[in-house]
Order: sequence, then C-alpha cells, then structure tokens
Amino acid sequence: MRESGRSVLTIGQAGENLVKYAISLIDGFHHLGKAGLGAVMGSKNLKAIRIGGSRKSEIDDPNEFRKAVSEFRRRIINDKLTKLYSEMGIMAVWDLWARQGYLSWRMKSVAVGEERVKEFGVEKYLREIKVKSIGCHGCPSPCKAILKARINGREIKSAASLYLGVAYEFGVKCGVENAEKAVLCHDFANRYGIDAFLFSELFDILATLKERGEAEVDVRRSADCVIEMMRKTVYKEGLGKMLAEGIDGLKDRFEFEDYFIKKIEPIFDPRVSSGSESFGLLTNLRGSQEGPISITVLPGKSKESLVRYMKRIGASERLIEETFKNGMNPALYTLAVENWLYTLNGMGLCRRESIARNLDVDLLSKIFFSATGIEADGDELVEAGGQTFTIARKLNCREGYSWKDDLPPRKFFEPLSTWDGEKVWRDYLTGKKYSYEDVKEMLRQYYKFRGWSENGCP
Ligand code: SF4
Repeated sequence: MRESGRSVLTIGQAGENLVKYAISLIDGFHHLGKAGLGAVMGSKNLKAIRIGGSRKSEIDDPNEFRKAVSEFRRRIINDKLTKLYSEMGIMAVWDLWARQGYLSWRMKSVAVGEERVKEFGVEKYLREIKVKSIGCHGCPSPCKAILKARINGREIKSAASLYLGVAYEFGVKCGVENAEKAVLCHDFANRYGIDAFLFSELFDILATLKERGEAEVDVRRSADCVIEMMRKTVYKEGLGKMLAEGIDGLKDRFEFEDYFIKKIEPIFDPRVSSGSESFGLLTNLRGSQEGPISITVLPGKSKESLVRYMKRIGASERLIEETFKNGMNPALYTLAVENWLYTLNGMGLCRRESIARNLDVDLLSKIFFSATGIEADGDELVEAGGQTFTIARKLNCREGYSWKDDLPPRKFFEPLSTWDGEKVWRDYLTGKKYSYEDVKEMLRQYYKFRGWSENGCP
C-alpha cells in the first residue's frame, strides 16, 4: 500500500484481536497509539489508513517563514548534540540512564547490572546492530534506525523508533539472551502491532513473581519464551488471554502491588530525578509511561538553569515564582513543560530535546506568525497550548477520570536499588524526601494553578 509521497497507518493481529495495548505503526516504524489505539481501530474493523496529498501548504509570508525556519535549522545543525543523536539516537544516554537507575527491572525495584548494559549498549549497537539512521521527513537529527541481527544463519532487518526501547524492553526487562535476540523480539512486536514497552513490563512481572516463588507460571527469561508468550497474547491463548487484558488481567490472577498509572507502566522514575518526566507521569493525559521530557531528566541542574529554561519555554513570572517558593515544586514545573509540549504538538513540531532545545518562545512565534499570518506572541502561544491541555483533560473527565487516577503508586516511595546506592523520591533542589501526602498536596496545587476543581477536573 505504500507509495512515494504517501504514508500508511496500520495495525497488526494484536489490534484485530482487540489486545488492550495494541498499537498502530506509521510506515512500519513510527509508533503511534500507546494506550490501545490499535484495539480501537480493530474494534471498528479498520485495518489501515493510507494518506497522501498533492498540494503544498500555503504559507502566509514565505520569505519570513524561510528565514525563521533557516534559523531553527541552523541552531540544530550547530548544536553539538545533533551529530551525537544522528549517530546513536537516544542510545546516547544509555550508560548514564543505566547508572542513574532509569533502566530498572524486577518490577521497578532494581537497576540493570553492568553485564547487560554492555551487551545491549552503544558499542555493540553501532558495531553490529545498527544499519543506518532514519527519521521523520527532513529531520536534521534523525533519531530512529534500521536494525539488523543474524540469528541461526538468517539475517533479519527491523525498523525501530528507539533502539534504546528495544534494548530496555527485551534486554533488561525480559532478560533475553543477547542484543540480536532483542531485535528479533522487537520485530515480532512490530509485526503483531503490540506495545512492546507494556508487554515487556507484564512479562517482567510474571517472571519476577515466579522467581520469588509467588506464582507458578511457565515463564523463562529467554527470547523463545518471550516470542511464544507474545503470540499467545495476540491470539489470546492460555496465559496470553490474561496478558491481553493488560495489568488488570494479571491483578485478577496474582497478588502483587500495582505500580501502573492509569493502567500504563511508568518509564521514568521520580526516585531517579524529580522533574517533569516523572511528575508528568501522574498528569499525563494519555495514560502515563512518561511525562514531558525536559532538562530535569537527570538530576543536578542548578536553580538558575531551571529558571532560564522555564523562561525559554514561556512560563509566566508567577509560575516561576511559585515553582521555587520552597525548593522546586515538580508539579508546577511540570505544568510549565506540559504547556510547552502541547504548544509544540499543536504546531506539529518535534518535542525531542535534541530538537526542542533549539527553540524558544520568540523563535516559535516568528515561525507561527510567518506561516499563518496570525499575530500571537510567545506567551499567548504557550497559554493556548495550556488551554488545549485543559480541553483534553475535560474529555478525560467526561470519561470518568479524576484526581484519584493521578495518585502516585506506592512503589515510588520504596527505595530503588541503583549503582549509586538506594534512591528515594526527593526534592530536585533541596534533596528533602517526599511523603505520599506531600505529593498529594502538590497535585492539589497543580489543579489550582490550572484553574481546575479539587476533583482534578476543569
Ligand atoms: S523529527 Fe524528532 S522524532 Fe522525528 S526523527 Fe527527528 S528527532 Fe526523531
């Protein structure tokens, strides 16, 4: 179905069979539809959508638009991170994330060990797994890749949005034998159209419960078992019937502490860094998995850098003041980054930090004004981004969501074992340990600042 100039959005058997976390793929590698879009399409017997067009968009002031976009491209190309990301994508942070504790397994309790970090790490990726970088149309910093693996004398090729995802899902969480087998598992996940992040977390829960002697299940940390379990999930056979229901399926059958948020597994972890990525897990409108990524993705930034960043993304003076009244309030900081993210989303701009860090509200308003002819300064654009966030939240509330769904999992208040010792959820600047009640209070402040009711609804 794919021809030059056209794109295809498609689902696989997971979507056709209504697996709760079926995804859709654009042109076979851009993932879309975390939280079950594939199943929604499957429920409507919609297998694929092909999109093409022959006319160009009309630009209000082509000269000014060209100037603004050239400035944006110039900044990206001169950014020292661009070359790094073009070569290795998000794998650029693999070692650091492993050390910090983001790459955790055994139900988010312990960070990955050094041996696995090496097997699934950057060196082998560049030497043996990566064929070439690919990306969205015209991107000067393509973050995706074609992967290859030779297994039993047969070479497979598979496209991935993130090799880091492949390595983390199958190499760390499922514990498959090697990087080649992780690519194989990823290829199956893509073909079935299943959310590999969520599947691998469920698989890790089953394997961990078995290892602790808390469940009698036929699960081994090997690629053969992962692929067979994926097949059973897609066709709803045996244990797969339960896995196809997501976290609820496992909770119905086994006793364990649920650490998912809105039925989706968290990737970022506030015990590693208490920034927008982790607090935004609670307020993410699309489930959880991650909050908006910003400079707090790693700990250690100074208050001055955070204030500078908030100004660059159009946070108001009042919001900045409230955020730093007592240490750093991650809820209010997250609110600023969410507004920025929704502004970028609304304009079809990439929010990856390798791209977005080269934008600021002034350049953004130049691009917007020259493209549309609608006059709006940066502050107005970001305010509009915040309003779209509120509208989307209204839709969630209409479906029954409220503050209760934003509450943090208790898991975040237990220590996480990392290479640098045990970590707990602390204030980003002062290091003060947070309690469950502290986080509940921050959620209340967040709703208030957004102008929503105490129920968490606009
Ligand atoms: S536009 Fe963004 S998501 Fe697409 S390839 Fe570039 S960095 Fe990656």
